[in-house]
Amino acid sequence: MKKVYIVKYGEIALKGQNKPYFERMLLGRIKSALKSISVVEMYRSDGVIYVEAAESESEDIVLSQIRKVFGIAYISVAYETVSYIDKISDTALEYIKNLMIQKNIRTFKVDTRRGYKQFPLKSPEISSYVGGRILKGTNGLTVDVHNPECTIYIDVRKDKSYIYSEKIQGYGGLPLGTNGKGLLLLSGGIDSPLAGWMMAKRGMEIEAVHFHSYPFTSERAKEKVMDLAKIISEYCGRIKVHHINLLNIQQQIAEKCPENELTIISRRFMMKIAEKIALLNNCDALITGESIGQVASQTIQGLVVTDAAVNMIVMRPLIAIDKVDIMDKAKEIGTYEISILPYEDCCTVFLPKHPTTKPRLEKIEASEKALDVEKLINEAMEGMETTTVNP
Ligand code: ATP
Ligand code: MG
Repeated sequence: MKKVYIVKYGEIALKGQNKPYFERMLLGRIKSALKSISVVEMYRSDGVIYVEAAESESEDIVLSQIRKVFGIAYISVAYETVSYIDKISDTALEYIKNLMIQKNIRTFKVDTRRGYKQFPLKSPEISSYVGGRILKGTNGLTVDVHNPECTIYIDVRKDKSYIYSEKIQGYGGLPLGTNGKGLLLLSGGIDSPLAGWMMAKRGMEIEAVHFHSYPFTSERAKEKVMDLAKIISEYCGRIKVHHINLLNIQQQIAEKCPENELTIISRRFMMKIAEKIALLNNCDALITGESIGQVASQTIQGLVVTDAAVNMIVMRPLIAIDKVDIMDKAKEIGTYEISILPYEDCCTVFLPKHPTTKPRLEKIEASEKALDVEKLINEAMEGMETTTVNP
């Protein structure tokens, strides 16, 4: 039997006139995700993408690669046959016999979708005919339409029909590259990698900036960030990561500004530098992992003062997500285990004992007058190093 991966999309189906564009983008992304796989054929027809991989390719690998592409509602591994009722029945029978061996199922139902309306039988007639043939051709199976152990789905198309039983959930979202490019402020923590992933899921390409305080922070801390970028790149392709040394700026702030404002003023510097890098690299937005109330600098007053440092729009996809849910999601995408490795972050190097939780913009701006902000930013930018991470 010929095996085909059927890829169905969710939100793209709702795109009116722009649908072909989104479909093309999705097809392109699946192609790049399958770069290392030998693909026999791949095409789109009637709102579905069909992928046929060489027989030697592992099903698990093909599935896990396709699943990382944003814009997919679900994937099924289907058997293909010609759209002729007896061929459909034969294939369904063989399919369910295999399932009986693998999974010891005892109840089933058949669920047909007739995309090709000229097919001589209607959907319920096809289901009942095929169901009857399965009952005749097997032992110990019964039909249970309400709570079956296995549903045999039949997609009837014009020339070919597809038989499958499992719908493997994709991540949804929109194809990468359909929503510009964002610059992610990537720390080594749990939040920012997920924030980047979430924006990528909405079609935004990702570039990243990481701030370190070398030699106060180690080489290993930097590698940790690259490891995180690598995991995100498996979903969103090659990522450029810019590294900025913030040490001099932090030392200047520590020397010349009130101690309790150190964190908030450093954060404003990070935002300003990120905005400059974004403008130089055609990024349309900044992305951070901030979540309201999570830490002292993420009170509403803190966020307002941080935000006021830049003109560019700042995306904060985690803003209303609880930490436990963030941790669960980070585990799911595969960044959590790296994020919890205990390497120091530049923010923890200079941590005020009692950071202000209700900063006021005028007061912070007045404190910043003690610094030559532009000069400090330019110096930090001059030392910028950029590396590229490939999936
Ligand atoms: P995370 O888990 O992402 O590190 P956090 O809970 O530690 O976040 P903060 O330290 O207040 O929170 O940082 C808030 C956001 O600022 C981060 O999510 C990230 O986007 C950005 N950020 C913080 N530190 C750095 C850094 N060293 N380099 C780049 N971005 C950073
Ligand atoms: Mg952090």
